[in-house]
Amino acid sequence: MPVPKIQFIKGVGPRRASLLAGLGINTPGDLLAYYPRAWQDRRLPGEAEKGPLLEEILVFRGKVLSARELRASKALAIFKAVLSNGRYEVEASWFKRFSWKYDVFATLKKEVREGAELWVVGRPEDPLFPGPRIRVEEQYPAGPAAEAAHAGRIVPVYPLTEGLSGRFMREAMLHALAEHGGDGPECLPEELRSRRALASAAQARRGIHFPGSLFELEAARKRLAYEELFLMALAWGIKRRQLRSVEKEHRYELKRHLLTPFREALAFEFTPSQKKVINEIFGDMLSPRPMARLLQGDVGSGKTVVALSALLLAAENGRQGLFMAPTEILAEQHALTFGRLLKGLPVRWALLTSSVKGPARKKILEDAAEGRVDILIGTHALIEEGVRLKNPGLVVVDEQHRFGVRQRAALRAKGDRTDALIMTATPIPRTLALALYGDLDVSTLTGMPPGRKPVKTESLNEEKAFREARLAASVGRQVYVVYPLIEESGAAGLKAVTLEFERLREVFKGYTLGILHGRMKPEEKRKVMEDFAAGRIRVLAATQVVEVGIDVPNATVMVVHNAERFGLSSLHQLRGRVGRGAHESRCLLVADLRAEGARERIQAMCSTTDGFIISEKDLALRGGGDPLGLRQHGDLDLRLADLSRDSSLLRQAVEDRDAVLEKDPRLTLPEHGPLKARLLALYGARWDLIELS
Ligand code: ADP
Ligand code: MG
Repeated sequence: MPVPKIQFIKGVGPRRASLLAGLGINTPGDLLAYYPRAWQDRRLPGEAEKGPLLEEILVFRGKVLSARELRASKALAIFKAVLSNGRYEVEASWFKRFSWKYDVFATLKKEVREGAELWVVGRPEDPLFPGPRIRVEEQYPAGPAAEAAHAGRIVPVYPLTEGLSGRFMREAMLHALAEHGGDGPECLPEELRSRRALASAAQARRGIHFPGSLFELEAARKRLAYEELFLMALAWGIKRRQLRSVEKEHRYELKRHLLTPFREALAFEFTPSQKKVINEIFGDMLSPRPMARLLQGDVGSGKTVVALSALLLAAENGRQGLFMAPTEILAEQHALTFGRLLKGLPVRWALLTSSVKGPARKKILEDAAEGRVDILIGTHALIEEGVRLKNPGLVVVDEQHRFGVRQRAALRAKGDRTDALIMTATPIPRTLALALYGDLDVSTLTGMPPGRKPVKTESLNEEKAFREARLAASVGRQVYVVYPLIEESGAAGLKAVTLEFERLREVFKGYTLGILHGRMKPEEKRKVMEDFAAGRIRVLAATQVVEVGIDVPNATVMVVHNAERFGLSSLHQLRGRVGRGAHESRCLLVADLRAEGARERIQAMCSTTDGFIISEKDLALRGGGDPLGLRQHGDLDLRLADLSRDSSLLRQAVEDRDAVLEKDPRLTLPEHGPLKARLLALYGARWDLIELS
């Protein structure tokens, strides 16, 4: 069957068809999948229930008693009409720029004549006295045509483009629904729909555009959001099996000639939780299938030694590992740590950052390609520049949440036959983990290494914060002072680290100070970090670059200026820089609590140190919409589903996905035909779902 063209929908035509094409709408089906960005409640007051999905707007239906034109000024023309519905009178006004050349109200005058029955839709002319005076945005002659699409009902509001009005979109949508609303098979299996009480595809399509009630709108949204989540979950599930259906080229054995001395040289014992996740990881690595595992564990929970254990297992078997950090500073930190922990072991490791240049760089690249390096540490540039390894065995991605999802996709594309360990320190809520990492197995490090004292967090003014910081410095501890900006102080009183630095010298007179920010040269940064790690710098003034990964157990105070400007997860990461040793630590937030949402965020920070709770709160505070940019994310197709609000729907979808795939792993049953077709249309090419096609 040929696909119908949008141009032939009633009222569209070639000119508007090309405007619609600019919105990606080429067929009636595309149009029907162009969902409203909001819904306006244009029912008459008192007609129905209010609800969070509905925008409010003024509507009135009445007979025109009188109408006249006024000139308010040289530039402004006003048209006013008095309308009555038999009980109330309302004054309706239209405003336009005046023109000498033509009558700006010519069309309006034809519609708004004495005696005409009209719908007017608009805003209160004076917001302080809503009611009898409406500034009109749209008017329609009363009658079934208006009431089908524009007034006296819940009305969809579409994202528009130049040349396409809301009125046109609604009318085109109505025609498309009438002509094609029932097209296409139902992709959700009947059994599922009835178990989850989901509207049918045709009902949902109508209800999302022209709901007869709030109830119908919610039912439609639920069905469509569920469908999106279910298809996404299916794609993850199938991709996951696909990834695991290949075999690694190599097999591992536990030889222990590196692992045992490594463990014995450590200054501490692994915690039970570390042992458990190491077992899970080793289980994967020893199996013939490639590992695809996410290790989540709060800031400071001890992920590095877990990753090192995995890298050593690979090295024991002559396989090379890549360890990727999100920033160069962090990669350098890791190199220092690895150097310390691997001292005396026959393990060859190298650090490759952008500051390693010329012959040194060439040598490292050659060593990697010829198998003379066991562990290569760097940033994601390693992958992007296509570094070659002779015997790749394992890729570790540290602080995954800092990379963004796309790099992960690139990584997966590259490393299908190597083991991959993805580490993240911002524990994400379970549902989001399902959404973002649905193709990975998940290990979770619980708790902290022994002897840690939870970091005390307080909201203080600068003076008090500095007093605390000086106190800590005076007994030999180290201090971070973080600012949001590097150079110029911005609007809204934001502070910059380079400008405040001189003042800090006064405040911390007698102590060595250092400064660290992203615009310094790599060598300078390295020097500062080394000095801070070695205790030669007592007070480190910095920007958010210290956010990730830096591990200096003697640092016990973190002062954050303009804390209101940092997101919850950043604040949590910053706080994670202290409380890494046996000393009591504090995180002091200097914040302007008048800023939007500041009070709630600071409050959340002060009330818990649990990263999981923080991440749940973060999501809740950021509220609806699309906090993680998933809707724009090229990997997914989510238009209505909202992961911060639809978590229970997502859980259901994942459960149902598991049941469907258990019964019919390749979706070959006839009742899954439409589902499979829909899945392939959405994700087949994008995700390379080879086993289905
Ligand atoms: P993160 O999970 O944030 O990457 P790190 O791996 O940097 O945490 O570990 C934080 C600190 O805890 C490091 O100084 C590390 O040496 C130490 N550590 C890790 N495991 C243990 C343990 N089992 N006992 C004591 N200290 C540990
Ligand atoms: Mg770390």
